Amino acid sequence: GTPVAVLAGIGAAARRGVVIKGGEALEALGAVDVLFLDKTGTLTSGRPEITDVVLIEGGGRTSERKRASDAGRPDDAAEAGGTAPASEAKAIEDILSLAASAERYSEHPLAQAVVEAARRRGLSPAEPETFEALPGRGVRARVQGRLVAVGSPKWIMEEVAAHSVDLPPELEHLLGAGKTPLAVAVDGRLRAVLAAQDRLRPEVLEALSELQAFGIEEIVMLTGDHVAAARALADRLWAAGLKIEVRAGLLPADKQRTVKAYQDRGRRVAFVGDGVNDAPALAQADVGIAMGEAGTAIAAESAHVVLLRDDFRLIAEAFRLVRRTVRVIK
Ligand code: ADP
Ligand code: MG
Repeated sequence: GTPVAVLAGIGAAARRGVVIKGGEALEALGAVDVLFLDKTGTLTSGRPEITDVVLIEGGGRTSERKRASDAGRPDDAAEAGGTAPASEAKAIEDILSLAASAERYSEHPLAQAVVEAARRRGLSPAEPETFEALPGRGVRARVQGRLVAVGSPKWIMEEVAAHSVDLPPELEHLLGAGKTPLAVAVDGRLRAVLAAQDRLRPEVLEALSELQAFGIEEIVMLTGDHVAAARALADRLWAAGLKIEVRAGLLPADKQRTVKAYQDRGRRVAFVGDGVNDAPALAQADVGIAMGEAGTAIAAESAHVVLLRDDFRLIAEAFRLVRRTVRVIK
């Protein structure tokens, strides 16, 4: 049978919002020495906003940059830069509408940002005729007879938009600011790059230093996002004196392979994630930890530990409780 101390530990954790699925998971948590963290929705709030829309039209480009403080004002499209002619504002709306239609049925935080950006402008995106999500890449949908794809620039450039096109110079600036670039293709042509801005969860710095103090030797960020966005976030953690390694541009299978490679070297691995893209790594890890309310059901199902509140501090709480319980058993 399960030792009483383990049952008591699981009960105490549950009362604090940490569901540990059994004694094995609890004991595995006690042995963890490497912690892998997903970025979007785990280290960040998972509520990104679209801050920029850069149109790419027949080689020429127009761009609109919104100041964060204006976000939400219906007239900001016309105001931004003060130079965008009405036809360009219309083109931006058309692209946002198509992108929002394509994203409508995705549960990804970036999808919600796109849908929200369209809603804020009072647009009413059409119902998509078909929809397909490709975890770690983006979405594909048929909207009013057109094939719309929204996703990572790498995926769009390599697999969707077969024509060669220069990425807009504005992209450098957006990447430098740590924003996540999203490419939008319509009928196989790159039409726009959107930039999404997310926020580091405020509780992360303290929780990570506590985890390091618990003897977790290595903390590694694993993300499907662009390396520049990943580094900009890591900069904040490094500046606070935390040791964290960054691996970016990973597909769901790459995250899983990374976890497995560490296990093959005898490491005990915990992986924290929230999305469908994290499911393979969550299942592979010695302890998969699914994050918060915003997390997907698939993540929760693949995980060994589920955090019931959308609060990064619960990760440290889980380790704290488990170490206490394991001490009692030994
Ligand atoms: P993370 O590992 O940071 O949680 P994901 O693996 O979910 O990120 O996504 C990796 C990249 O794939 C994103 O940065 C984005 O470029 C693209 N992507 C994934 N899903 C979507 C989506 N629904 N809409 C747009 N882009 C997406
Ligand atoms: Mg995520």
